[in-house]
Amino acid sequence: MELTFIGSGDAFGSGGRFNTCFLLRGADCRFLIDCGATALVALKRATVDLNALDGVVLTHLHGDHFGGLPFLLLDAQLMSKRARPLFIWGPEGTEIRLAALREALFPGSSKAALKFEIDFTAHQPGVRRAGDRFAVTPYPAAHSAGAPCFAVRIECDGKIVAYSGDTAWTDSLIDAARGADLFVCECSSFERDLTGHLSWRTLAARLPSLGAKRVVLTHMNPDMLAQAAQLGIETAADGLTLRV
Ligand SMILES: [Zn+2]
Repeated sequence: MELTFIGSGDAFGSGGRFNTCFLLRGADCRFLIDCGATALVALKRATVDLNALDGVVLTHLHGDHFGGLPFLLLDAQLMSKRARPLFIWGPEGTEIRLAALREALFPGSSKAALKFEIDFTAHQPGVRRAGDRFAVTPYPAAHSAGAPCFAVRIECDGKIVAYSGDTAWTDSLIDAARGADLFVCECSSFERDLTGHLSWRTLAARLPSLGAKRVVLTHMNPDMLAQAAQLGIETAADGLTLRV
């Protein structure tokens, strides 16, 4: 399995990085984890075949994590001429929030019939849901986005990739990351905890309790980006592909 950081930035474009969007490629599955506002541009820069995507797993409904969907759908309808169904697994309320967002950005778009099906499934906290070739277990995150927020634990090709989403420290990160082959963790700041986010100071003290085999940090603000190289931990970068 491979995970590519299509976008590894925060909501502010810190470091010139694209908003959050990861591409997971398994033997027989290929989907996005989050689809931030800049995702379509970043996916095209990375020359990803959009029609080969099976779907999108969303952690929460903030613009830097799901704001790229209206553009992805517009492209699917008018440019890529998608014909296959697209799954969207996300928090309860995703379908309504996405329709409102599409309507705000491209009036009429949410009412036009698509030439492909969208298959919405709502995350149930702590409940593992298996697709044909992968499974996702969402765990509650300590974050606020007008709908439930999650960390996700994904099983694919016999490996486990976990992702914190955006969150302050919560013990559910231990459930999500336990024994994971790769845990991608947000680390929004270096020293001072921002509301609903993790600082390196908080995270570093708790890393051993996670029990993940490999940890890679993402979603870093300028302070954290400036310090990252000296911390002895792996960090994400746009375009970086990890083999799991
Ligand atoms: Zn974010």
